[in-house]
Amino acid sequence: MKRKKKYVEVNENRESWVDAHCHLCIEPLAANYLDEIEQAENDNINVLISSALSRREIDWHLANQHPNVKLIAGIHPHYDKSNVNDLSYIAELCETGHIWGIGEVGFDNRRNNHNQQKNILYPQLELAARYDLPVIFHVVRRYNELYQTLRYDFPNVRGYIHGFNGSLEIVEMFSRLNIGFSIGYRIFQKRDVVRIIERILDNGMILLETDAPFQQNSLRNQNTDYLLGGVLSIAEKISELCSYPLDEILEKQWQTYQTMNERSKI
Ligand SMILES: [Zn+2]
Repeated sequence: MKRKKKYVEVNENRESWVDAHCHLCIEPLAANYLDEIEQAENDNINVLISSALSRREIDWHLANQHPNVKLIAGIHPHYDKSNVNDLSYIAELCETGHIWGIGEVGFDNRRNNHNQQKNILYPQLELAARYDLPVIFHVVRRYNELYQTLRYDFPNVRGYIHGFNGSLEIVEMFSRLNIGFSIGYRIFQKRDVVRIIERILDNGMILLETDAPFQQNSLRNQNTDYLLGGVLSIAEKISELCSYPLDEILEKQWQTYQTMNERSKI
């Protein structure tokens, strides 16, 4: 059945669910992305922050723009298709206002090339600072290094750690900066997940994400039958685990999204 396309501008004043991290250009999501966006819209998931990590992925997004989709682009520390030479292209997109944020960028200790990763990360953080854009971080067991980098060299950069899977101490640490936490499926395997999420809900900045189509099967879309609907499964899981009302989770993640959107007043 062919559905009618509708391109409704998101009403920025109305609280909506936000999928803080997905990859719309990756199959099987790409083949079906308009239908996915429409199903998400029917469930009040009206903001989709989609990651492009190579020139090809960026160009896919530029060719398939949609008002609900916010594009982020960056050179990933571990992804094979990311290429340092794309930096000038990303800078151009910052200049022309085509991207919402820089990401996913950061440190990943699965590769033993920390200095190289640092050399890639710094110019991207400089771009974020210059164009006042949020940064979406990818971190694998390098939270400390990222914290030191931000604290000493980029204390005003705002953003969030995607697929957050760290400890309570790490939440405390990054909450001293303008950094939030995006909750995906992985964190639910942690023993102290309740305390960690409660801490973020109480004092930190929270977002939810599917990481579609890379999501894990364990919790995948318990109540929905499309990939981007996973945001609702995560929200419900948090509500149940932390005895926290769903509408308050909706409000908190919406506030975080608004904070990410706000340009600093300098
Ligand atoms: Zn991702």
